[in-house]
Amino acid sequence: MARNVIQFQKGLSLLDFQRLYGTEELCVAALERARWPAGFCCPRCASHDYGIVYGRRLKRYQCRICRHQATVIAGTILQATKLPLTVWFLAFYLIGQAKTGISSLELSRHLGLNYDTAWLLHNKIMKAMSEREDSYVLLGKIQMDDAYLGGERPGGKPGRGSENKVPIVAAISLNNAGHPIYTKITPVSGFTSEALAKWASQHLAPGCAVLSDGLACFRSVTTAGCRHEAVSSRGRHPKDLPEFRWINILLSNLKTSISGALHAFNFDKYAKRYLGGYCFRFNRRFEMKEMTDRIANAVCCCKPCPERALRVAEVYG
Ligand SMILES: [Zn+2]
Repeated sequence: MARNVIQFQKGLSLLDFQRLYGTEELCVAALERARWPAGFCCPRCASHDYGIVYGRRLKRYQCRICRHQATVIAGTILQATKLPLTVWFLAFYLIGQAKTGISSLELSRHLGLNYDTAWLLHNKIMKAMSEREDSYVLLGKIQMDDAYLGGERPGGKPGRGSENKVPIVAAISLNNAGHPIYTKITPVSGFTSEALAKWASQHLAPGCAVLSDGLACFRSVTTAGCRHEAVSSRGRHPKDLPEFRWINILLSNLKTSISGALHAFNFDKYAKRYLGGYCFRFNRRFEMKEMTDRIANAVCCCKPCPERALRVAEVYG
């Protein structure tokens, strides 16, 4: 059997990880590269002229123009953390390399943290990954579908319109050879024309050619400047339609990941964050070696978020 180039690519071995991120100093240097690739930039006045003040834990960069002092984690979602940076980086590594996802409980065991601390760290990292994904839109040929997440509690009806489930929209962009490139999967308030029009304007570039099944709400992607073609399933199961091969594989892998790693995940509240993290890893699946740095970069781009706000349910448009 032919070997899948993505599955067989070299990731970052645990030994390489230790060599690259095994001390606080190495982690500080990695965060500096992620946050200031062109050298320190003052968050207040954007000057590059600075001196170093050595503090108790992290060194401070003092701007020579406005005298502002900053650490490499100030103003990011890592701000005020009491955990060693080596613990954060080990979490970036474990989250990035886990083929089918990792739960907060599993992270807590690997990192030697209690569950609540691991949950917070995990959710901060997923939030950062999800926000990074929000800054991109899909281009070109798109396959799109609707699905439900969760809802394994008894009493729900199967299929569209069922209870206890989070409606999601999934899309995947294809290159000219018909191979999958990037994906977007996010929760929506429902499968309505308004929700899909808003979804398309947020996640698709104008001019995309969208292929979907016959569900009426998909037509409204045209209000975001996309072209739309619906394939009628004519009694066949959408899973059997070759036109939707990649989106079907994507959704099937997503479901495997959820049932394997996250049976206790609260989708009602945190679906966006979880799906954003999933898409982040999928969209960088050719770059397994760089994944830890990519997550460090996402974390540096994400503003501080108090626990209270992290625990509030997300609202979907
Ligand atoms: Zn300054």
